[in-house]
Amino acid sequence: MTVDFFREEPTARSSWRLAVLMGANSRTYKFALGEALLEAAAAGREDIPLRDLAKPYAMSLVRHLAQAPQASLNTKVGDTDFLAVAQREAEESARLGSPTEELLALAMKSMQQMVMQKFHNLRGGVELPHRFYELTGSSRQRVVKLTDHLREVALSEQATTLQSELAARWSIVETSFAAGVGQSLVLQGVAVDLDNLVITDKQRRRPVTGVTEAVIGFQHGRCMICGEPLTLGIDELAVDHVFPYSFMRLFGGKIDLDAIWNLAPAHAACNSRKSNRPPHHDELVRLAKRNEAILKSPHPLKRTLQLTLKLYGYTGERAGEWYSFLQRVHREM
Ligand SMILES: [Zn+2]
Repeated sequence: MTVDFFREEPTARSSWRLAVLMGANSRTYKFALGEALLEAAAAGREDIPLRDLAKPYAMSLVRHLAQAPQASLNTKVGDTDFLAVAQREAEESARLGSPTEELLALAMKSMQQMVMQKFHNLRGGVELPHRFYELTGSSRQRVVKLTDHLREVALSEQATTLQSELAARWSIVETSFAAGVGQSLVLQGVAVDLDNLVITDKQRRRPVTGVTEAVIGFQHGRCMICGEPLTLGIDELAVDHVFPYSFMRLFGGKIDLDAIWNLAPAHAACNSRKSNRPPHHDELVRLAKRNEAILKSPHPLKRTLQLTLKLYGYTGERAGEWYSFLQRVHREM
């Protein structure tokens, strides 16, 4: 399962990606917590009162609530639910630039009872290989101790990439929660707007997030062509058609090369050197691993890739199918 992704790069950063990109989501609390943790650790903090961590946590949920639903449609949100209170307190909190006392108190309570308990858990009862924080102190004075692993992640050269990935994953998940769209995203997956390099939902063609931000974490933040780190905001980037677009005609348009499965962030320089050549074997292997990793993440990217495989007679479920499919495409070139 998710183990292969971790084994390729057994680092704290890969653990972080397992949590953010591949964890289950019935709500978006994990993203708000992740964002607040990265920020505190990037500032070099070793610990932070829960109250101080709860402030950015609550405020980013308030901001996101104004744009999109933060729980799946099947989730029952009662009156005293954190999301209901956040909705009620949103306007006042925005005016204050900080959560109201009522919202802050509930954020602290729900963080301890829910998201902070679950952040390190993967589906199937598996725990992350690294822990990023520990809740300490008395019930009246809770302190969140940030681990070295968290600082390692937050201060790594990929820090900005990790922030962008988290934001992209958040957009994808909340868009899939949105009424009406949720269903179509879950059933049909996403499309790509190549002019703007964004992922869109198929029905409304509305942008969800950037292609690069959405998939870069699944390739360990590395260039698909040279395998070296790719840093958002620093390196000049391109989105590579692993099988070049110009080969589309060879298949009589049978295989869609403009789809997520064939698009991968790369250094702009590597991409222009590569030009129109077919992928080398190591690139095929990297792409197969990247796509297998996306299959471990919940909808809708997973669905998109499954639909591609099914179109060509695969189950969309078995390990190794991506490698086999990519080799087939390669042979036909
Ligand atoms: Zn490169």
